[in-house]
Amino acid sequence: RKAREEERRGLPARTRDGHTVEIGANVNRPDQVPVALSQGAEGVGLMRTEFLFLERSDAPGEEEQYETYRAMLEALDGRPLIVRTLDIGGDKQVPHLQLPQEENPFLGVRGARLLLRQPDLLEPQLRALYRAAKQGGALSIMFPMITSLREVEALRAACDRIRAELDAPAVPLGIMVEVPAAAVQADMFARHVDFFSIGTNDLTQYALAIDRQHPDLAAEADSLHPAVLRLIRMTVEGAARHGRWVGVCGGIAGDPFGAALLTGLGVRELSMTPHDIPAVKDRLRDSDLSALQDLAARAIACETADAVRALDGGGAS
Ligand code: PEP
Ligand code: MG
Repeated sequence: RKAREEERRGLPARTRDGHTVEIGANVNRPDQVPVALSQGAEGVGLMRTEFLFLERSDAPGEEEQYETYRAMLEALDGRPLIVRTLDIGGDKQVPHLQLPQEENPFLGVRGARLLLRQPDLLEPQLRALYRAAKQGGALSIMFPMITSLREVEALRAACDRIRAELDAPAVPLGIMVEVPAAAVQADMFARHVDFFSIGTNDLTQYALAIDRQHPDLAAEADSLHPAVLRLIRMTVEGAARHGRWVGVCGGIAGDPFGAALLTGLGVRELSMTPHDIPAVKDRLRDSDLSALQDLAARAIACETADAVRALDGGGAS
């Protein structure tokens, strides 16, 4: 039975009418890769590199980062790896970096904003990544908390320069869509990046103006709120105009109903906690894309998150 279960987990997330969704795992360390693969992951859709900086008293240097990215690529053995550059600030504070205190850290210097102000953080990371890419494997780089096109321009320029210095191969460059501005201007961003990955945890927080950690508001911070779904749809449509693909790596990707809805909205890749993979794959394999598209259209037309949730029949669609 166990062997059959393993075999089922290894099947692709292909709907009954033949549409395949890529399934990635959110994994931060090379030693977690085998577990993710045994759950049915086809790659790593989000490596949160701020974890390399946490639970220690200093910042990892270029060499140490290089070893880690290399080990991730080796553990994945040719499967895709999307590394997100440092997303520090907001809910991810790193005491030893001694960054200034902010009144509103979620609206402050976090993610790409911090990287662009601190080349001492950005450059060793990019050098480590391009050095790892030189050794082979399917690496992509993704930038967090992108708000404006100027940030993308500056980050691309840094990548181009470092890649040329190292004589490294080009790697796909993507952005996280987690600020509503990026979703609204997705058609413009799509000219300048290779892919999008929607961070629904932050996108929900910023669209609904609800602190993602607020204990009293957690129930209202629903990533299936129709306003969030509309932002996701805008992202998919904007990306499609320039032939770019869209993934989701926020928590809702690991919810079977959420995964079904996102697929109906045109999301091509879902990346989640490894443990969530088998149920998501089962749900998608029990569905027809055409039915999921109908479901998505109905969800977009809902007035509230509760109404969207009520569309969940709990199984095949
Ligand atoms: C997100 O915001 O949805 C996301 C995936 O990033 P994080 O949870 O690390 O902020
Ligand atoms: Mg985020």
